[in-house]
Amino acid sequence: MQYFVNVILPIPLEKLFTYSVSESEAGILLPGIRVAVPFGKSKIYTGLVHEVHNRPPTVYEAKEIHQILDDIPLVTKIQLQHWQWIADYYMCTIGEVFRTAVPSAFLLESETLILRNKTAEIDESDLKDDEFLVFEALEHQPVLRVQEISAIIDRKNVLPVLERLMHKKIINLKEEVYEQYKPKLIRYVQLGAEYNTEEALEALLKTLSRAPKQSQVILSLFQLQAVTKKPVKVTDLETESGASKAIIKSLIDKNILDEYLIRTDRVNYEPTINTSDIKALNEYQQNALQDIQKNFSENKPTLLHGITSSGKTEVYVKLIEDCIGSGKQALYLLPEIALTAQLIGRLQEYFGEKVSVYHSKYSIHERVEVWNNVLQNRPKAQIILGARSALFMPFTDLGLIIVDEEHESSFKQYDPAPRYHARDAAIILSNMFGGNVLLGSATPSVESFYNVSQDKYGYASIDRRYGNVLLPDMELVGIKEQTRKKRMKGHFSERLLQEITEALHIGEQIILFQNRRGFAPIVECTTCGHSPQCPNCDVSLTFHQYKNQLRCHYCGHHTAVQQSCMACGSPTLDTKGFGTEQVQQELQKLYPDVNVGRMDLDTTRGKHGYEKIITSFENQELDILVGTQMLTKGLDFRNVGLVGIMNADTLLNFPDYRAHERSFQLLTQVAGRAGRTQKRGKVIIQSYNPYHQILKQVTTSDYVGMYNEQLYEREQYKYPPINRIIKVTFKHKDYNKLNEAAEWFTKSLRNIFRENVLGPEYPPVARIRNQYLKHVLVKIPKTQSLKKTKQGIKRIEASFNAISAYRSVRVIYNVDHI
Ligand code: ADP
Ligand code: ZN
Ligand code: ZN
Repeated sequence: MQYFVNVILPIPLEKLFTYSVSESEAGILLPGIRVAVPFGKSKIYTGLVHEVHNRPPTVYEAKEIHQILDDIPLVTKIQLQHWQWIADYYMCTIGEVFRTAVPSAFLLESETLILRNKTAEIDESDLKDDEFLVFEALEHQPVLRVQEISAIIDRKNVLPVLERLMHKKIINLKEEVYEQYKPKLIRYVQLGAEYNTEEALEALLKTLSRAPKQSQVILSLFQLQAVTKKPVKVTDLETESGASKAIIKSLIDKNILDEYLIRTDRVNYEPTINTSDIKALNEYQQNALQDIQKNFSENKPTLLHGITSSGKTEVYVKLIEDCIGSGKQALYLLPEIALTAQLIGRLQEYFGEKVSVYHSKYSIHERVEVWNNVLQNRPKAQIILGARSALFMPFTDLGLIIVDEEHESSFKQYDPAPRYHARDAAIILSNMFGGNVLLGSATPSVESFYNVSQDKYGYASIDRRYGNVLLPDMELVGIKEQTRKKRMKGHFSERLLQEITEALHIGEQIILFQNRRGFAPIVECTTCGHSPQCPNCDVSLTFHQYKNQLRCHYCGHHTAVQQSCMACGSPTLDTKGFGTEQVQQELQKLYPDVNVGRMDLDTTRGKHGYEKIITSFENQELDILVGTQMLTKGLDFRNVGLVGIMNADTLLNFPDYRAHERSFQLLTQVAGRAGRTQKRGKVIIQSYNPYHQILKQVTTSDYVGMYNEQLYEREQYKYPPINRIIKVTFKHKDYNKLNEAAEWFTKSLRNIFRENVLGPEYPPVARIRNQYLKHVLVKIPKTQSLKKTKQGIKRIEASFNAISAYRSVRVIYNVDHI
């Protein structure tokens, strides 16, 4: 009898690959166990066993696997089912899902770059011989390819050794280009080692008797130790003894005190923190909870529609408590950017160590740890908090999924495949577990609200802010006239300035929203009209004043700003439009004594830049915060009295069928940051077109009005949620080839789907990183089978790929494109 395994490789292959295994290997192998396998001429991949069987492949000779990498499955049966659903639904391969789903540390392959983990403490005696060889090689050369390591230790099966080293945290992967998570260090003190005997201590106190302040420090240290029975923080000692920093420092310098640092996680609270009781819900929250529970008893996904600051989080907390009380796991999904220390802290206060965070900014080692904790169903990871990719954790008994801010488009992965929507994939996953899903939002997506109206989802709502705080007072300010009459100060209307001055006067903080970063999106020569373009993309370069640079927001290309026009040489360069940088600068001129912070992609890039800005705004070190849509995501600031929207028009004029829905959501969410405690907040919206329907709906909080109008339009133009859409994108560096190929494909689509095919069309930015793009939209009416539609498209793709001239054109599917 021959034995074979079908293996999922982390690459876009339509079919699974078959390898041969020995009888004893076949006895150990199970679906979900990883194996190292050869592929192509010289590649090694980590693959995942999908099936063990006795059927030899018909068209090729099965190669042998190199090695088995796990004792028990790393991936569960339900995960494999879920991946298959994602691959089928989103028209990609299960290999692509595999690559996205597991931490990269589980995917070592011949091309992976390996580094020493500099932060690890290493006990060389702990290393086996082969591990030591790798360790030593990395001492001499900072980066090595897996293949090279294989040559160095003269062995084909190098992945198991590297797995072990990974486990011991001795090596890291090079692709960890993003920031390693830097723990915050806290200073502690204890009595110097010399004074550990009673005599020495007595002698010390005697010598210090002439220095009362210093002896007070020593006494306070004893007191603190006696009371708390814990290490003493320098800051606590300062408070307790009333001594200055200088005095404590001099004691440290004299070795009387011994200073040491302990890392505490900023994000992971200290374990000693007192967990507090879950808050009692008010009557509105209680009603919503009951409605949710009623729907849950029928296993119906439910939408919680609760206005900003209505206390949705507290309702989630209750549901999580119930879920883990019955021993099941809970998953809390939210947009990456809303995953703040604020929220993590709030949950950890209630659930202590049961909360684990799965975050792309964490090190691979931490991600592996969370994965294993979930797989083992350890209490430590009973509640998982994370962005969309946390959906891929190996849950064994998932009782509840919460999708917070469910309307956020960042739940949809855009690139690379799988282009899945985490909300929709969550509903499928939950179904597989027989669990429940709650979608929460103050501004639900039109889809979800439609699903409620179709009775596919249950519904619960809270239409009052917690503590009965009123929704902010919103005022629309038309700026057309004022601009014409030159009565604007920079980009500020008189009304907005009045309100800013007033808010500052009474000590309230202010948020100003402008949906563009940089100083100005366009630089233009007033003589000849030329404006500098990105050489790699069809888009104007954005002017960033701080670095005096022109930058492309699509590919990152940048150049220094020229003094005169590149085309005609005139020094008549001017800017058009404005971004956050300009708003900040104008404010600084108008209010020189006020601290203005900025939150956009440029200021949050650094180490925990985002966290830092939020913290300093929270601590009221900043009076005004200017930012892009990063500001909107579920932040709960206590002292914001005023929110200003610099220009609502750029949002409304965005060329997309969702622009109005998005504007409503964004503006409502930003406005919701104002006046979250006692006093009613104020919102000023500046616009050239203050009579725009959407703006009216925002100011009157008319969600249903917005919904009905949008639904009507979507019905008219056959867009979701009434119809489904698949966007097909063609990509190639040769403009003519792309055009021809896209035409060919579209013609074939039109043969089957007739008037439901739109395009091909260039997107607003038709070339990115030197690749031209063209889109085709296939609309799928309710009555048409989605599955058959996809099959039809796939068949066309097969004929398309048979034409050699088109083979190099990339075809990308985006199902339910948003
Ligand atoms: P949302 O997520 O709906 O915007 P939050 O959950 O952030 O609202 O709640 C807003 C504020 O009200 C928070 O500071 C929260 O602590 C407080 N809050 C909400 N519900 C309660 C409650 N039942 N008891 C005490 N405080 C509450
Ligand atoms: Zn010019
Ligand atoms: Zn570019």
